[in-house]
Amino acid sequence: MIIDSHCHLDNEKIQHRIKDIINSANKSNVKYMLTICTDNLSFGKILNILKSYENVYGTYGIHPHETNNHRELTIEKIKKQLLKHEKIIGIGESGLDFYYNHSDKKIQKSLFLKHIQSCQETSKPLIVHSRNAEKDTLDILLSEKKNKNFDVLMHCFTGSMEFAHNLLDIDCYFSASGVITFKKSKELANTFKSIPNNKILVETDSPYLSPEPLRGRVNEPCNIIHTVKFISILKETTQDNVEKFTTNNFKKLFKINIQ
Ligand SMILES: [Zn+2]
Repeated sequence: MIIDSHCHLDNEKIQHRIKDIINSANKSNVKYMLTICTDNLSFGKILNILKSYENVYGTYGIHPHETNNHRELTIEKIKKQLLKHEKIIGIGESGLDFYYNHSDKKIQKSLFLKHIQSCQETSKPLIVHSRNAEKDTLDILLSEKKNKNFDVLMHCFTGSMEFAHNLLDIDCYFSASGVITFKKSKELANTFKSIPNNKILVETDSPYLSPEPLRGRVNEPCNIIHTVKFISILKETTQDNVEKFTTNNFKKLFKINIQ
């Protein structure tokens, strides 16, 4: 069994054929999916998806790109959203994106902190998006974890070896996306090789980031098998074992007991 730990099933590129997408995921042994919230509009759609599909779980959070439009977000508001469905099991995606800078850096940081504080208060894990912001992301996670510990999943991790090991020191989990299969990702593959198996999850980030050999197409959860296969070769183990350890890590991190 494989769990896609990060997809956007509410995204307009795939939402219109969600039934087929979930069916073909199930046929490919992708038994559960975590659909990730990006803003309040996305959250409304996610709640409907959770009600319609038993094997889809969800999160609540404001993507760093969207933070300019959600300056009024508070910890209380986040906590209230979490209660709207029992299958909301995480907070995010939240973090810092200084590559696109769609939102002001200061606002990104302030909302990142609000998401973190909500995790500290609710014990739900944080799904972190970090791009071109390694130092700031690490500084914030380090100092906040000292205040009160919380669980962290670095989604679609594409950072440096040094960043990965600094994050390992504070007990973070790492999710590998299709990016790891790209030919130019040798360094990233090496970094994942050095991350212990008990810290690795897999994701598609659908509809984005299709793995090789499907690169450039609209992505969907069933394609995760290419990433699983890549990791099995990288880690010199069987696909079955990669499925096992990534699934166990998911269950442990999100504290859910699914078969
Ligand atoms: Zn995402």
